[in-house]
Amino acid sequence: MATNETPSTREPSTLKPSVCPLDCPDTCSLSVTIAENRVIAVRGSNANPYTDGVICNKVTRSYPEFVHGECRLTQPLKRVGPRGSGRFEPVSWDKALDLVHAGLSQAITKHGPQSVLPLNYAGPHGELAGGSMDRRFFHKLGATLLDRGPLCGAVRGTAYLSLYGPCPGMPPEQAREADLIVVWGNNITVSNLHMAKVIKEARAQGAKLVIIDPKRTRIAEQADLFLQITPGSDVVLAQALAAELERRGALDQDFISRWVSGFEPYMTEARKYDADSVAELCGLSKAQFHSFAESYANAQRVAVSLGNGIERGHSGGSSLRAAMALQALTGNHGRRGAGVIAKPGLASPKTTDRLQRPDLVPPGTRTFNIVDVTDKLLDRDLDPPVSALFIYNHNPVCTHPDQNRLKRALMRDDLFIVGADIAMTDSMAYADVVLPAASHFEYADVYGAYGQNYLQRAKAVIPPVGQSLPNTEIFRRLAARFGFDDSLFQDSDEALMDAAFDATDSRLGGFRPSQIPLDRALEMTTPEGEELILCKTVQPETKSGKIELFSEDLEQRYGYGIPRFEAVPRDLPFNLISPSSSKRTNATFGGCDASRGRERVEISPVDATSKGISDGDPVRLWNARGETLLIARVTDAVRPGVLYSPKGTWMAAGASGQTINALIPNDIRTDIERGACFNETFVDIARA
Ligand code: SF4
Repeated sequence: MATNETPSTREPSTLKPSVCPLDCPDTCSLSVTIAENRVIAVRGSNANPYTDGVICNKVTRSYPEFVHGECRLTQPLKRVGPRGSGRFEPVSWDKALDLVHAGLSQAITKHGPQSVLPLNYAGPHGELAGGSMDRRFFHKLGATLLDRGPLCGAVRGTAYLSLYGPCPGMPPEQAREADLIVVWGNNITVSNLHMAKVIKEARAQGAKLVIIDPKRTRIAEQADLFLQITPGSDVVLAQALAAELERRGALDQDFISRWVSGFEPYMTEARKYDADSVAELCGLSKAQFHSFAESYANAQRVAVSLGNGIERGHSGGSSLRAAMALQALTGNHGRRGAGVIAKPGLASPKTTDRLQRPDLVPPGTRTFNIVDVTDKLLDRDLDPPVSALFIYNHNPVCTHPDQNRLKRALMRDDLFIVGADIAMTDSMAYADVVLPAASHFEYADVYGAYGQNYLQRAKAVIPPVGQSLPNTEIFRRLAARFGFDDSLFQDSDEALMDAAFDATDSRLGGFRPSQIPLDRALEMTTPEGEELILCKTVQPETKSGKIELFSEDLEQRYGYGIPRFEAVPRDLPFNLISPSSSKRTNATFGGCDASRGRERVEISPVDATSKGISDGDPVRLWNARGETLLIARVTDAVRPGVLYSPKGTWMAAGASGQTINALIPNDIRTDIERGACFNETFVDIARA
């Protein structure tokens, strides 16, 4: 803001409604203070009854800086220094699009369209910015397809689908009526904030709270029972509990015969485990295990909140399926307050194919798993090779495993890299051409949440900052450069919104998606207007119509028809876990002031003593893949043998030119979906 203006000459500030687009299940409605076309403050609004005026500190603290701060990209750039050096010069949009056209065309001429690879993830979650005109463009181009989920989310999603099919699970608000809430691998205070309010209300009615997490999170401090589990062993706990509940006669046989398939094969595996196995493999005492079993057996309505933490180990898919199976075995479905809090967003009448147009994809186009991208880039025998990479909505250098190898891959001289982002990230530094993307405050979008069941719309609250453009316009212009003259490449943002959801669905209340009121969120019930209750108003959408504990699909694809535990051998003494940060959402905001300075690593007092480390010491963590520098925080919030450091830091935060992602393996994968195993990271630690 200009400093020579007196208050009387400034425009008064205004409040405008918006929606948070970040990769977070809550999708809060926002109230944004604007003055002189700048975002001054971001707060919660009451438009969405679930988020109800409350938002997280990271958004309040960092969003204005993210939009207007020094990392913001405001003009197209062309690389003029060595790759990765960060030396760029401004160019016009025309010139930048010419360069992109030339770079992609050269790859296509030499090796065909599949030599172009989009590398995008979930930066913004709006339907338009997240995947609309960009997908149409790459589909028509014939670029290699990217399976994005294995980086995060697909293991959990596939686990859910294997039991229930594509039907919506329990909305989080219903957990208010539970008498037992189990929060499993989910640091809700940091990454699912509004569950905390639901839990408080349920507890005021007498509900018990069990937290299962390798780290003593803030919510764990309030729990009736905190199970500080060994990372990656959740499936053992869940299957041992199933067997124990069977021994206690606490399984719901009527529910099982009506709603469950695969009971016997599932229980045959589960019966291999008991309290002794839990003590040995999960690091929990027998007393804790029996206390958990008793709480489960005595509860009438159990609500389970499963976080993404569980999927970050090799047995992640099995662990999630086994945790969900407990609800089926004990009949915790079919009534309010009982169920698995997952996938309520599936209630939205999305018409994604109409939006993204997969019909444009040439037959036979290959698909890469996003976690394999480094291998693909380094594979000299790949035919066709990846010759052009388009990074957008994503900061792979700070979020993918095996960072040093990825950086080596991005340094390939013969690789043309385009980047589009809001901020100059560590990944953009590798691009040949950088395109400035508008933040979601600068365009309209429509938001179907994945962690709750409300549909929301937002309009731009400020004009694009500098020369930045919304993703839709960037790809519209690129499509024109490539001569894609079909009208679907000229669709306006309004037309794209209308393509994203079925406007004839009664739950939209007669509004076209592009006309959804800005001051309220539309609740997605069943199509008949009933509350979402699995095995009552919502039916499992599996082949059998039942909840499937044995999955034919997962048996055929991965050999895991029944969930099972497989230990990962460790080569170093410490298990590093890297869950969500209270300062960043994944790597978003990593360049903001709150993330400056070295990140911390939590270590138990026992381990700190044995390593001669004191609280506040600079420490070095290393393994064969890399080394990073952090600050030790000695705390009994982590168990001996486990180190905890939050994810998403940028290079500038450390002094080693590597973040914890340099330590994370790329060759250990999850049992289903071949997903990234962030929590199977074994390291050593010493004072730096
Ligand atoms: S990051 Fe999550 S909790 Fe924070 S404002 Fe956005 S949606 Fe809400």
